[in-house]
Amino acid sequence: MRRRDALACGLTLSSLFAGRRAEAAPSTLPQAAAVPGGVALLPLGPLGPLGATAPSARPSARYQGDTVLVRPQGREWLAVVGIPLAADPAVPQTLEVVEADGRERRLSFELKPKRYAEQHLKVAPRHVELSPQDQARTQQERAHLREVLKRYSADREPASLRLQLPVEGRRSSSFGLRRFFNGQPRNPHGGMDIAAPTGRPVHSAAAGEVLDTGDYFFNGQTVIVDHGQGFLSLYCHLSAIDTAQGRQVEAGTLLGRIGATGRVTGPHLHFSVYLNAQSVDPALFLPAPTAAGQGRKTPA
Ligand SMILES: [Zn+2]
Repeated sequence: MRRRDALACGLTLSSLFAGRRAEAAPSTLPQAAAVPGGVALLPLGPLGPLGATAPSARPSARYQGDTVLVRPQGREWLAVVGIPLAADPAVPQTLEVVEADGRERRLSFELKPKRYAEQHLKVAPRHVELSPQDQARTQQERAHLREVLKRYSADREPASLRLQLPVEGRRSSSFGLRRFFNGQPRNPHGGMDIAAPTGRPVHSAAAGEVLDTGDYFFNGQTVIVDHGQGFLSLYCHLSAIDTAQGRQVEAGTLLGRIGATGRVTGPHLHFSVYLNAQSVDPALFLPAPTAAGQGRKTPA
């Protein structure tokens, strides 16, 4: 009898401690979602003997030609892979891994299909039927942004891959929607829209360095923050920019103000998150929305 009591007590205690441990160490990882537009978390093997977390012991990984974020997680190395919205779930995916000692191997992984709905929006005709000047401008901007979004800062290690909400407002669940502007098909939606009034402050979602600012044809006034190792965040359609390229920021540092610049139907923040040059669903990195901030489909 006494023994049974002790056992029961022991079980209760251990489950109590397990609960406390889980509370004490919140996850630093995004939610795993091996789908187009999601994030695949792929274990690359044990950290090795004590002290092997030195950068020299870190394996490196590439996916579709881009360097992938690799971080120690528990006793393992973990690749955190951004999956493009255009990825074909019918095709096995390949991660190219180079071990710390130079050995190379290929890791195959599967994607699950995810069907994104269509969204039809009405915007100013000049943002759909582009004049020759605007066409030239957007081509230049696209090339510039492609380069910027490929940034992989090897020596900047993000402390966490969790993000804080950059602005208070209603979140949409519009990431990945297949979009039609004034009836014409365009690229799928590569971010989360957060509806908020013009002028409301927009803050950095995590610590990092301001990588780029600009006033772009589609994105309007924009700030891009480099959190390290290809983990970037992008803030669009701002009415004002309150930072500058090269500035170090913390989570919560003011970047700018809500606006309606670029191709929009009204004031909101377009918020994108990048891993290995792919825009992935920001919801995987953010705390779960409260009832008040619960999303519907908001404007472009
Ligand atoms: Zn948007």
